[in-house]
Amino acid sequence: MDLYEYQGKQLFALHGIPVSEGRFAASPEAARAAAEELGGEVVVKAQVLTGGRGKAGGIKLAATPDETEARAREILGLDIRGHVVSKLWIERASEIAKEYYLSITFDRGEKKPLFMFTTQGGIDIEEVAEQTPEALVRLHVDPLEGFQPWQARRLVYGAGVADPSEQKQIAAIVAKLYDAFVGTDAMLCEINPLIVTPEGEVKALDSKFTVDDNALYKHPEIAEMRDVAAADPLEALAREKGVTYVKLDGDVGILGNGAGLVMSTLDVIALVGGKPANFCDLGGGGDAEGVVDALEVITRDEQVKAIFFNIFGGITRCDEVARGILTALERMPIAHPIVVRLDGTNAEEGRTILAEAGIANIHPETTMLDGARRAVELAR
Ligand code: GDP
Ligand code: MN
Repeated sequence: MDLYEYQGKQLFALHGIPVSEGRFAASPEAARAAAEELGGEVVVKAQVLTGGRGKAGGIKLAATPDETEARAREILGLDIRGHVVSKLWIERASEIAKEYYLSITFDRGEKKPLFMFTTQGGIDIEEVAEQTPEALVRLHVDPLEGFQPWQARRLVYGAGVADPSEQKQIAAIVAKLYDAFVGTDAMLCEINPLIVTPEGEVKALDSKFTVDDNALYKHPEIAEMRDVAAADPLEALAREKGVTYVKLDGDVGILGNGAGLVMSTLDVIALVGGKPANFCDLGGGGDAEGVVDALEVITRDEQVKAIFFNIFGGITRCDEVARGILTALERMPIAHPIVVRLDGTNAEEGRTILAEAGIANIHPETTMLDGARRAVELAR
């Protein structure tokens, strides 16, 4: 789950990382009120779940409450890479002497958290990595050993920060960022830019914060930060029902058990000239309740013209899935053609159950390829 800048900064502040004072605003009037409360110059910042807001005109300085209201009016409704701005963060403006970059994420190859730090902040880190790779200091943390203070010093010295006060402040921020990363089960915490003010104060001017969805149950206060309005309504419904669902662009709804089988099914649909409408994984269960939930999510997608059930029974029993399909059809009318391929544990029983039910829009097939062909045909 990606957090907005202002939410990430709240978590930074909770972990003792210095940030500027600010206020949330969703209207020009609220922006003005925020500026009045904060006093002095402020920066009006678009809150969207994408980067590059500065370049897109989503970040503007304002000297007075009047100006703040005017800038807010300009930024609200702005389209930044497909994200329409409806939220603002009004922050006390900072003077910037230097812009650094600091992040921590996972290095999947090394199976360790990875810090990256450079004094060439403010710009895209990909650019730094490409043009001046020597300026980017990378450092892994052994998750069992935990973070060690010398690691912060290595980052700071490695990047050539010479000022002792800056060194000390950055080292402290590095340690706190590690606590924030581990403490929130984050997958990414990025500060770009990490600024030094003309007075020599170091603070986080931006935040990019991604928390592991699978750990949200441990962090109800972060789970609450999710912006339901920004999420795809079907994906929100799926999440609520505990169904693994990814919306795609075609017209054949896919239901399989297990991510590997579902991915192969997407391939086979493409092979026979079709386009999957989604990726929907029942997981290892595939009991009636799960089937009902998944069908409910899939049939709400208006692009879906046919549904392909591709089940390989291992732990999942095909008779159970067949009963789930019938239960779902009893509970809600489904007009879509449903192609069902059952194989593996109790496949015979499953097929018999479906055949005996004699439902017109259920089309049994015995192989994945035939099932895919049939589904694509029926979606036309
Ligand atoms: P991003 O473009 O989405 O990464 O948004 P940032 O929050 O990083 O802001 C982009 C740029 O706007 C920063 O690199 C700064 O140069 C500038 N900026 C942001 N906040 C302030 C501020 O308080 N004062 C000044 N002078 N510039 C700011
Ligand atoms: Mn930034």
